[in-house]
Amino acid sequence: MKTTDRIGVISASVLTAAYGRMSEFQKVSIRRRRLLQIVHYAKARSPLFSELFAGLGDDFELGDLPVTTKTGLMERFDDWVTDGAVSLDGLREFMNDPDNNGRLFLHKYLVFKTSGTTGPPMVFLYDKSMINVLNAVALERGFPTARERSAFFLRRCKAAVVCSSVGFNISSGMLRFGQSVNPVKRYGMELFDVFAPLPEVTERLNRFRPAMLGGYPSSLCTLAQEQIAGRLNISPLIVLAGGEYLSEDSIKTLQAAFGRRPVNSYASTESGTIANECACGHMHINDDWIVMEPVDSENKPVAAGRLADKWLLTNLCSFTQPIIRYEVTDRIIYHDEGCPCGRKSPWVEVEGRASDMLRFRGEDGEIEFAPLFLDNIISNITGVKIFQAILHDGDRLELRLVADGGAPVFENVKAAVDAFLSKNGIHVSIYLSDDPPGPDKSGKFIHVRNAPENEPPQARV
Ligand SMILES: [Zn+2]
Repeated sequence: MKTTDRIGVISASVLTAAYGRMSEFQKVSIRRRRLLQIVHYAKARSPLFSELFAGLGDDFELGDLPVTTKTGLMERFDDWVTDGAVSLDGLREFMNDPDNNGRLFLHKYLVFKTSGTTGPPMVFLYDKSMINVLNAVALERGFPTARERSAFFLRRCKAAVVCSSVGFNISSGMLRFGQSVNPVKRYGMELFDVFAPLPEVTERLNRFRPAMLGGYPSSLCTLAQEQIAGRLNISPLIVLAGGEYLSEDSIKTLQAAFGRRPVNSYASTESGTIANECACGHMHINDDWIVMEPVDSENKPVAAGRLADKWLLTNLCSFTQPIIRYEVTDRIIYHDEGCPCGRKSPWVEVEGRASDMLRFRGEDGEIEFAPLFLDNIISNITGVKIFQAILHDGDRLELRLVADGGAPVFENVKAAVDAFLSKNGIHVSIYLSDDPPGPDKSGKFIHVRNAPENEPPQARV
């Protein structure tokens, strides 16, 4: 039984396309079969899961299995993976070379590191099954209607992805890998670095003339302002937003600039694409490849239509690094009441990401930035082990840091953050806190956040 190509390119697209046409009975049985397959594979190949699933037979329900967490799995990384040739030390060494982003580790796996908003960083491998399914889902469900998909093909699949070129993130890694193996992607897709000067990005986009424009909502909104001002002049058929909360204001700005409503998606490193938005504005879950269980703080099931504190993810196509009943701390509402668009799969509302935007005073009024930007800069500085950046009133940025190398690492972080923010007209005073990184009052560990109004800044060093 080979680990990496259990679901080939053709099978992934055929199976993904066929699922939408299946009867409810067929869907339930295919999901059950995939669940049994992944659970048995994990039990047989992962020392950690063979402990967790000791004594488990075929007649279990998903709710019988133990809940797993990012911290618990990362602590036992080498026992967690199902390929004995993979070790966390080996992966860290591989990631020391930034050029390895988008290249295969051990000729088999793409490697990603989360720059998410909560908890310790997660290192995650995409085996060939995961890559094939992710590509199939993007092609089958990434477009709101079949008409948009055909129009995209007519314009030679020209896609511009605006993302960070630094670090091992999914967007740039998948794009680079795709370009290395697929000639259509080599000429049809281009990466636009969010950290590059805006006039340069604008000029390159004007030349490239993408049929699809994808990126974080904050980057897309910056480009929308360029389009409205007349410096950018492109006509994408699809504007794909992801990675951050997409607010109603951002939707209006993007619609005004590009003449169409942006399409939203919900994804994570551990799951790939969780849900894609339909023409009715509902995020339909890819329930053939992932299982979403809405739960309360004690991991008890929460009914559809009710707000759940978090949810448990089971990934049905990640064989190398099994994700089974894995805690995801986004607050969601799970819907199973159907949708006028005709897609039969359940859909999800994700709550509570808007408050995460960082609000700086700036030279010309308030400027909002996604925490992802600072997260990406700080987490990629050598020596940083755990960090937290908290923005206080008066543009004072408190840094809590655990690092190999102490003060010089702080100076490097400070210089990098300063350089990025001042380029955007923001001047902050950055100081090292006496406090170590830790959870907020609600118990959530967030890397980069605004200070609550009544939280006093910690002492300067
Ligand atoms: Zn729908």
